[in-house]
Amino acid sequence: RWAKERAAIDKVQQSIQELKPQSITSFRQIPLSSLTQEGLTSSGFSAPTDIQRETLPIALRSGDILGTAKTGSGKTLAFVIPVLECLWREQWGAVDGVGGIVISPTRELAFQTFEVLRKVGVKHELSAGLIIGGKNISEEQDRICATNILICTPGRLLQHMDETPAFDCSNLKILVLDEADRILDLGFKDTLDSILENLPASRQTLLFSATFNKSVHNLARLSLNNPDYVSVHAAD
Ligand code: ADP
Ligand code: MG
Repeated sequence: RWAKERAAIDKVQQSIQELKPQSITSFRQIPLSSLTQEGLTSSGFSAPTDIQRETLPIALRSGDILGTAKTGSGKTLAFVIPVLECLWREQWGAVDGVGGIVISPTRELAFQTFEVLRKVGVKHELSAGLIIGGKNISEEQDRICATNILICTPGRLLQHMDETPAFDCSNLKILVLDEADRILDLGFKDTLDSILENLPASRQTLLFSATFNKSVHNLARLSLNNPDYVSVHAAD
């Protein structure tokens, strides 16, 4: 089974090198695991939106991205797919702990992202969990260490970094900062800075935002490594 999967991973990784955004009209044309392809189909997604088409080839080549596109343009799938694919290629499993972290500005947005991840990732063997507070912290402490993909609000993630001794992010492969402009508007700049200090430098980072301004730019400088800037602003 492992050898077969290894061959599939190598094939996907080779074909992604040649993928050009302009040529993509359906998700089927993007080299992805069959697990993700099946999840996209069962969730009713067939063709990528502009921001997905422009960012997926870069993100699937493991590049860092600062992506801006207006609300409703489909930024969630633009990072949910790379998170799933990144950990699939790493053959991430139950014993490997936290491999991906998505930071969302609010509980509501975290919950929406979690639902998309659950639907599109349904065929993957990865576990995902919401770390958004509102409940007893000890209940989260028990499962946070055994969860592969965490969808978090900034304050609660930092709280676990400070208060959950067994919480270990040192193997993190991919970090997503979603709705970064809203995270900063809500006053989480210092919280984010502290979170970033606790994460390994050798990781992929995807930063998405509806708008671009000086504070988003500063956050990008702190969190991204040689990123591609992708901005999609279609005419209405
Ligand atoms: P954003 O984060 O940019 O505001 P979302 O990721 O929340 O946008 O997506 C907005 C809406 O578009 C959602 O209802 C989502 O299901 C839908 N959507 C996203 N990508 C696609 C796609 N490729 N095909 C069809 N609908 C999509
Ligand atoms: Mg969004």
